Formats: sequence, C-alpha cells, structure tokens
Amino acid sequence: GQCVAVCPTAALTEVNATDKVWSAIEDKDKYVVAQIAPAIRVALGEEFGMAPGTIVTGKIATAMKRMGFDGVFDTDFAADLTIMEEASELIHRLENNGTLPMLTSCCPAWVKFIEHQFPELLDIPSSCKSPHIMFGAIAKTYYAEKIGVDPDKIVVVSVMPCIAKKAEAERPELTKDEANNVDLVVTTREFATMIKEAGMDFPNLPDGEFDKLMGESTGASVIFGTTGGVIEAALRTAYEWATGETLEKVDFKQLRGLDGIREASVDLKGKELKIGIAHGLGNARRLLEDIRDGKSHYHAIEIMACPGGCVGGGGQPYHHGDASIVEARHKAIYEEDAGKKLRKSHENPEIIKLYDEFLGKPLGHKSHDLLHTHYEKRDRI
Ligand code: SF4
Repeated sequence: GQCVAVCPTAALTEVNATDKVWSAIEDKDKYVVAQIAPAIRVALGEEFGMAPGTIVTGKIATAMKRMGFDGVFDTDFAADLTIMEEASELIHRLENNGTLPMLTSCCPAWVKFIEHQFPELLDIPSSCKSPHIMFGAIAKTYYAEKIGVDPDKIVVVSVMPCIAKKAEAERPELTKDEANNVDLVVTTREFATMIKEAGMDFPNLPDGEFDKLMGESTGASVIFGTTGGVIEAALRTAYEWATGETLEKVDFKQLRGLDGIREASVDLKGKELKIGIAHGLGNARRLLEDIRDGKSHYHAIEIMACPGGCVGGGGQPYHHGDASIVEARHKAIYEEDAGKKLRKSHENPEIIKLYDEFLGKPLGHKSHDLLHTHYEKRDRI
C-alpha cells in the first residue's frame, strides 16, 4: 500500500480483519461496538464513486447499524477525551518546568519511529494513549457499567485510516488487565468491502446518528483527521484553561495548510506559545534532531507520519499519489468542523458527564490508569 514508504509498521503484512468482525457480530454471546476515526468520513465515499472530500458521516452511522453492531460510535468522542488529557498535560508541563516541547502521541507509526530512532527522547511525547485506544478503555469500563454488560463480552472494533493502528492495538502497554482495549482494527478500505459484502447501496443510505454515551463530538475532534488538527484542537482548550478567557475565534488558521513543516506562535495572554507541526517522517526527523541538539524553540509539536495526516493514511482509499485527493479530504475536515454546534472538546456534554460520573478530573488517578501509557526503546520491529 501507499503507507509502506512512510510508516515503519506497514512493513508488516496488512492482515485483513473483516471475517473476524463478521464472526464477532454473529456471536450472540458478544457485545460488539464499533468506532470510526475522523479521517474516514471525508474519504470512504470514494470507494463508492463519490467525489473525494464528500462528507458521509451520517451514512457511516447508518451502515454500521445495518451491519448489526450493538453500539455505533465515533472515535471523535475519544478525540475530545484525548484533548482533555493532553491539554491538561501541556499546561501542567508549562507551569511546572516539565519536559518541553511536548509531542503529540496519537500517531502510532510516529511513536514507533521515535522509539526506534530517538530512544533518548522518550520523555517528550505526551503520555496520552491515542483516541481509539482511549475509546476502548472507556468502552470496557464506564460504558460496560452503564449498560450493565460484562466487559469480557465487549468486542471493540476500530475502523481506522491506518495500517499502523493494527499493530498499535496489540502493544502490551496498551492493554488493561491483559485484555486489549481494542480488539479488532479494520481499515477504511476493509470497511468499504464490508459495506459491499452486506449489499448496501452506500451513496443512497439515509443519514443516521451515533449512539448515546460515546457518540457525541465537537469540531475540535474532527480536525484530528488532518495535519495540524490535533494541536489546534488542543489549543482551543488549553487557551481557555490557561487564560481563563473564552476563546471567541476558534480557527487557528496559522496552524493549517499542507506544507511539510509549519510553525506558529500563539499569544496566551502575554505568554507566547510556540508550535511546530510536521507530517511525513522525514520532516519529523528534522524537528527531532533539533530537539536532540538543543536547538528546538517549540513548546509543543504535532507529528503525523503520513503526508497530509490521517486523511492521507495508508488504510484509506488509494489516491495513487494524486495530491488533489488528499487536499479535498483535508478541506472537507475543516468544513465538518465549521458545521459543528460545539467546536471545543471541553464543551462536549458526554465528555463532561464522563468526568462527572466516572473519571473525576483530567490527569487524575483513573485517567492515569486508563488513558495514559509509556514508551520504550525498541530494537526490532
Ligand atoms: Fe496512521 Fe494517521 Fe499516523 Fe498515518 S498519520 S500512520 S493514518 S495515525
């Protein structure tokens, strides 16, 4: 696939998981929940002849329901959760002379790259698990409790734009009590195959809704799907928390675009926050070498392994190197964000409820236990 050139884990064979997902759905003893990553809603339509950048979020919810999943959810919910933890971590590091810059940690190919290539820098990535893994951790605790289902019966299926997410779900650091947070990962292309196998006329499906408890999301979570989006989402929340002021203009346009390395400076009420963004591992390497050599002046850096970020992911419909396709998806992500009623992660009512009823506070004991991880020097694949 196209990911081979950029993500180290794609060196492993892409194992098709669709049969396992169908078997889990058919198993009456299992309670199968599915989640869909942000980047998929602007690309999946291409597998059905729709134009790149067509937003198909509602059709995806309908397709997942008709396939027979017991719970139909959105990884965007968990991206909002990631921001709660990651923005808290950034502020904590800024205020306590912590390690800077802080690096985003939601791209597993990038995490693997730093573990192999820069083991001396492993204290700088955020300790946050990636959104779909956080989703799995919450599905098997809070959600299981709320709906009264034994967590052992819950099978979490992630639909991801990414091949590296398959290996990520197997990382020993990301399992809880020896059960995986996420059980099965299918790519966008595999998910399209499943829709075809089910005989659905995807372009003509009506719009549906995600289920309650883990289906609500804000515009901040949608932009996780493209380069620059994670750090912009984190800033929308960190700004309000650090300054105590309402952020009126949520669009940080200076963080957007498709240049390989970008930088911006944001004024946090007199305190300057310097942000770096890189996509593609060659660009990431340049920023990391600067950090290693003590030349980096950033406070926070977002890194995505795939050019364009997840919209250009190795599990997405093939774009055969056509940059205009990735660009159309990238634009559609910001359209979806602009159309959302809520644009800041900490305003997501289901996230507020999750902290009230279960987690307590960001970086608290339960969060530490369920939502954070650590990194290790790795010598082999
Ligand atoms: Fe996966 Fe996204 Fe990272 Fe690409 S940028 S490897 S799709 S997480």
